[in-house]
Amino acid sequence: MKKIIVIAFAITAILSCQNQPKPTADGHVHFVNKTDYVCGMDVQADWTDTCTYKGNTYAFCGASCKEEFLKDPEKYLAAE
Ligand SMILES: [Zn+2]
Repeated sequence: MKKIIVIAFAITAILSCQNQPKPTADGHVHFVNKTDYVCGMDVQADWTDTCTYKGNTYAFCGASCKEEFLKDPEKYLAAE
């Protein structure tokens, strides 16, 4: 039984690695959101306050917006 749990963890680890943001050729990560979900600003390619949620990378204008999003991501994704 323990072996099955270990294998399950290994598969989960492999899958989550594949969910990491993939930088494009110019080194920029593709952001899923076009606007900051919290304050509504247009997303800029050089924003560094980003987070990965369910395999998608979202960008925010600052740490406070990112933290606000992470408090309740589903609320913002549902409102989109
Ligand atoms: Zn913002």
